[in-house]
Amino acid sequence: MVSKTLSEIRPGKDLWKIKARATRLWDAILLGNGEQLSLDMILIDLIAFFLFSVYKLLMMMNNQGTMMHGVINKAYIEKFKPLVEEGSVYITANVRVTPAAQKYRQVENDKVLNFLPITTPKKVKDTEDIPKYSFKFFSTYMLSKRVDMDMYLSEIHIEKHLKGTLEDQMQYNRRTLEQLNLILFDTSNQDKIFTVQSTIDAINTRFGWYYISCNRGDCNKQLEKKFDHYYCSKCDKRAEPKARYKIKLEISDPTAAATCVLFDQEAQMVTNESADSMIDHDSKELPKPIQKICGQSLIFQFRLTEYNLTSFRPDYTVSRVFFPKEKSNSRIDMENIIKVTLLDYN
Ligand SMILES: [Zn+2]
Repeated sequence: MVSKTLSEIRPGKDLWKIKARATRLWDAILLGNGEQLSLDMILIDLIAFFLFSVYKLLMMMNNQGTMMHGVINKAYIEKFKPLVEEGSVYITANVRVTPAAQKYRQVENDKVLNFLPITTPKKVKDTEDIPKYSFKFFSTYMLSKRVDMDMYLSEIHIEKHLKGTLEDQMQYNRRTLEQLNLILFDTSNQDKIFTVQSTIDAINTRFGWYYISCNRGDCNKQLEKKFDHYYCSKCDKRAEPKARYKIKLEISDPTAAATCVLFDQEAQMVTNESADSMIDHDSKELPKPIQKICGQSLIFQFRLTEYNLTSFRPDYTVSRVFFPKEKSNSRIDMENIIKVTLLDYN
C-alpha cells in the first residue's frame, strides 16, 4: 500500500495509508452523562508547507485540506490509545474516510479519517518536515471564506449512502430481512443499497472460504491455474497468487433468513485476520478466527445485483459491514457533543 496525502484520500470503501502528525488529541464526551464517544485528533500532513503558494491557495479553494479530523470509535479506544500520542508522526495503514458532518467540522476539510480494527498506526521518526501547528496559519483566510466554503461544500455530490456520519450510513435504507427479501420482487424499486442488522447463524463452507486472486494493486480477479503458474485474465499475464476471503454466511433477523457473501476487506474487518495469513493447505478445518464470527450481530450494507433482481434469490453481496454500537437503542444527540474549536481567532 502506497502512502497518500490527506488531500488525496477519498470517502468510500477503500482503505488508505497516510503519513501525518497527530497534532491534537482529545476525548469527545457526551455532555450530561460524561460518556466517552470517541478519541479524536487533528492530523496534519506535508502539503501545509505550500500554504502561501498559489498551488496551496488553489488547493484550499477546492477544499483539499492538509488537516483532517481523525476519529477512533469508542469500541477501539482501548486498543489505540496507547499507540497514538499527541505531537508524534505516524504512518497509518488501513484507515477509511467518511464525509464530515457539515455542522461539526473540526477543520476545514470535508472528510473524516476513521480508525478500524485493522488500522495500524506506526510511529515514525519526526523529521520535522510536517508542521506542528499549521492550523494557526489558516485562521484569517479561512474565517473570511468560511461562509462561501460551506455553500460550496453543500453543492458537492456525494453518493447518498456515503452521506452523513457513520451512524447515518449504518441506518441508510434500513430494512428488516423480510422487507428486503420482498423488495427483490418489487419492480418499482430503484434503490440498490440497503442496510440490515442480522445475526450470523452459520458459515456455509461448501465452496470454501477464500479464493486465489491476483495480488497486483487493486486487481482482485480470481486467477486461473495453468500448468505451472497462475494467470490473471484481467491483467492478461502471469500473476502471483494471493488468498482473499469469500465467505458465505447464513444470516437471520427476527423476521426472516437469507444468505450473503462477505468479501476480502469486509471479512478482514470482522475476523481481524487476513485470509492470506490463515491458509493452511493441510487443514480441512475452518480457521478459528472465522468460526468465531458465528453468533455475531452486524449491520450489513448490501448492494443488490442483477442476479438478485432477476433470480429473486435472497443471496446478497455485502458491500460494507458496520459494528452496531453497544447501546444501539440510545441515539446520540449531536447537539450535546462538546465542540472543540481549533481555529485561532486572534
Ligand atoms: Zn490481475
